[in-house]
Amino acid sequence: MTEPVFLSPPVDVQEAFLSAAALLGKTDCAVKAQFRNFASLKATLQRQGNTISANVSPGFAAGGRDVLVGLALDLTARAYRMRVPDNAYTRAYREFRRSQNSNQLNNALKRSHGRKRNLQAQGAWHDLNDIVLRMTREYPLLQTLSVPKMGWNAKGGSRILGFYDESAHEILINANLDQKRVPPFVLEYVIFHELLHAKHPVKHGRSRRTIHTTEFKREERQYPFYDEAMAWLKRNNVDRDWD
Ligand SMILES: [Zn+2]
Repeated sequence: MTEPVFLSPPVDVQEAFLSAAALLGKTDCAVKAQFRNFASLKATLQRQGNTISANVSPGFAAGGRDVLVGLALDLTARAYRMRVPDNAYTRAYREFRRSQNSNQLNNALKRSHGRKRNLQAQGAWHDLNDIVLRMTREYPLLQTLSVPKMGWNAKGGSRILGFYDESAHEILINANLDQKRVPPFVLEYVIFHELLHAKHPVKHGRSRRTIHTTEFKREERQYPFYDEAMAWLKRNNVDRDWD
């Protein structure tokens, strides 16, 4: 006897919101929840007294009932100004949101592929988009990041390994790193460093020298091959001169 296969998970959005209300102790509230097509993956909830009405993108159903209950818990708790509980439902919901962000990134990258841009992410040896996609999936520190556009920088100072352009939300990587002899963990480290800059935008009036805060450096050291990358750069006399 095999499990039945559902093309579309049989989840009931009304039931999910009723369960969430019960879990929050709001057993007496009137719930009206329905699926509704939004332009993007989205859910809204309005509360008037003890009546809540929710509209949810059908896309959330793909995550199954746990995700939907987690979403309902999140929205309902906020509407009642309660703390959002940390449980299996809300964790499933957060995990689903993270994976959806990766999908959206995937689609955005596909779209930008067809568009005329000066940025060239595909190098002779390394494809920056591939690397960034993998890194944002792999490293928890980067999972909430809105991923910048990536490009090889052929021109400019050869000493600058990478640069994050905040106004354009773009990362440029020195094309000297697009060589067979440059190990992937070195290139990844430079990208990791620049992604952290994208994660921690520089406040106005701060000099370039002060942007590597203690917090920044602490996070940078969480790159798994930090020591190896440092050692390789030193061995190859590459100055750490970047922003
Ligand atoms: Zn830097």
